Amino acid sequence: AKDRGRRTYAFYETEMTENATHYMTRSLELRRGLENNELVLHYQPQIDARTEQMVGVEALLRWNHPQHGLLGPAEIIPIAEQSGLIVEIGNWVIREACSQARQWQDEFDKKIRVAVNASVRQLRSEGFAEAVQHELALSGLPAEFLEIEVTESMIQDEASMIKTLHELREVGVLLAIDDFGTGYSCLRSIKSLPIKRIKIDRAFIKGIPDKTDDVALVEAMLAMAGSLGLLVTAEGVETREQYTFLRAIEGIELQGYLFGKPVPASEITADTSPKAKF
Ligand code: C2E
Ligand code: CA
Ligand code: CA
Ligand code: CA
Repeated sequence: AKDRGRRTYAFYETEMTENATHYMTRSLELRRGLENNELVLHYQPQIDARTEQMVGVEALLRWNHPQHGLLGPAEIIPIAEQSGLIVEIGNWVIREACSQARQWQDEFDKKIRVAVNASVRQLRSEGFAEAVQHELALSGLPAEFLEIEVTESMIQDEASMIKTLHELREVGVLLAIDDFGTGYSCLRSIKSLPIKRIKIDRAFIKGIPDKTDDVALVEAMLAMAGSLGLLVTAEGVETREQYTFLRAIEGIELQGYLFGKPVPASEITADTSPKAKF
C-alpha cells in the first residue's frame, strides 16, 4: 500500500509538472505573440432593430498563432489572466479598437461605436481609467463611441472597482453589463453604478419565441431595463424567429450570427446591415 501511495503521488507530481510547463510555455508564447503582433481583433456588428442599421461593433480577441492557427479567447484569456499579461493585452485591445473605430468614423458617413471586453484584473489594476483616457486621446476617438463591457459577476462590492467604474463614466465611455442574467445579479448595485446598457445573455435569447420561461425572463429584464432607463442589447440572435420577436421591442439592439459573425476589420463596411440578407 505504501508503494502504491508513492506511485500515485509520483503520478500527480508528474502531471502537475507537465501542466506547469505547458502553462509556462504558453504564457511565454503569448508574450512573444503580443510583441510580434500576432494578436488581432475581430469585430461583430451590432444592429439597431428599428432601422436595421449597424450602429456598433464588438471587438473580440483572436491570436494568430504561428503553429496552431487562429485561436479564440478561451485559449488566450485564461493564460493572460494567470500570467498577469491581461492588463497589457487589455490595453492593447483598447488601443487597437479605438484606432480602428476612429478610422471607420473617417471612412463611413455614420459614426459607429466600438465595444471592448474588460477583465476583472483590468478593473482592479491601478490607473485603468487613466489608461483608457490616454488611449482615447491617442486615437482621437470621442469617448462616447467607446463602450466597455464588464460581466455581472465581476462587480462586487469592492470599493476600488466601483471607484474605477465611476472614473470610467467620468472619462465619458459607456459601461455595459455583459452576459446579463447569468451572474449573481445584484440589482441594487446595478442601480447605483454608472451602467448604461445590459446585454441579455445568449442563453435567454436561445429559447425565444417558443420557450415560455425564456420569453418571461426576457420580458422581465426588458421591463427592469425600461424602468431603470438602461439600453438593451440582445446577444446571440441566430434565427429569423428570434429577430421577429425582438424587433418589436422599442430601442433594442441586436447582435448575433444572424447579422454577422465576428470578422476581421477589413470585412466591416459602411453598409454592413441585415438588409443585405433579407
Ligand atoms: P462575450 O463577450 O459574451 O462575446 C460573445 C461571444 O459569443 C463571442 O465568442 C462571439 O463570437 C459569440 N457569438 C456571437 N454571436 C453569436 C451567436 O449568434 N451564436 C453563438 N453561438 N455565439 C455567438 P468569442 O469571440 O469566442 O469570445 C468569447 C468570450 O471571450 C467573450 O464572450 C468574452 O467574454 C471573452 N473575450 C473576447 N475578447 C476579449 C478581450 O479582448 N478581453 C477579455 N477580457 N475578454 C474577451
Ligand atoms: Ca462581450
Ligand atoms: Ca456576452
Ligand atoms: Ca459570454
